[in-house]
Amino acid sequence: MGPNTAIELVSHFCPDGERLAHEIDLALHARQITLREAWQRQVALLPFDRMDEMTAFLRESISLRPGARELVHLLSEHNVPAAILSGGLDAFIRPILARERLDLPVLSDSVTFAPDGSPLVVYPFGHPTCRLCGVCKAAAVQRPDPAGARSIFVGDGSTDRFAAEMADVVFARRRLRDYCVEHQIRFFPFEDLQPVTERLRTWLEGIEPMPAPRRLGRRESPCPISQAAAGQDPLPPGADSAFRGL
Ligand SMILES: [Zn+2]
Repeated sequence: MGPNTAIELVSHFCPDGERLAHEIDLALHARQITLREAWQRQVALLPFDRMDEMTAFLRESISLRPGARELVHLLSEHNVPAAILSGGLDAFIRPILARERLDLPVLSDSVTFAPDGSPLVVYPFGHPTCRLCGVCKAAAVQRPDPAGARSIFVGDGSTDRFAAEMADVVFARRRLRDYCVEHQIRFFPFEDLQPVTERLRTWLEGIEPMPAPRRLGRRESPCPISQAAAGQDPLPPGADSAFRGL
């Protein structure tokens, strides 16, 4: 439920939206603009005075991946802290979770409004020195944990790549799967979420041992942009090449 949701909203709610959303997407893929710039342009096209209609549209058109509910229930049964990390906007994610009666923390981007009423995307979970990623998913998967705890990351997109480099256990599909193969990151492939839940169940119930931690230790986000020194602007030369294929 990421920036693609914004493309659908723009296509549906903005005059000539399909063409405009496509233009923004092309510029992003051609690396002429960053993910954050793409977001800002898409959000500027959305009629936030029609938020109720947009919410209703999302509630009807967005479905969760099969098995999501069972996965969340398993985790809560075993008191495993879980959160949704999304490059989308919280205002567009929460109605879907409410529809599914899922109560999970959401780490995502947010929209706020300038004094003139124009929408601005803000990044409460961004990295302090990163201007490319929205949510710093790498930082999120390495929050301080009790000793011996593992971080498990389930993802599918290119904005998930730095989290996959940090997590102890990775479940991957789509672009994230390709990235893990290319970068030799150990992962479990998945499509629907039922097999993820079943594998986690065998670990949580002690039927099979959980994979050992990756022993990466604590380190800064592997995102090349977040490693650039604070205040260093423009982006270091070539830094965005790591974002090929976004
Ligand atoms: Zn970053």
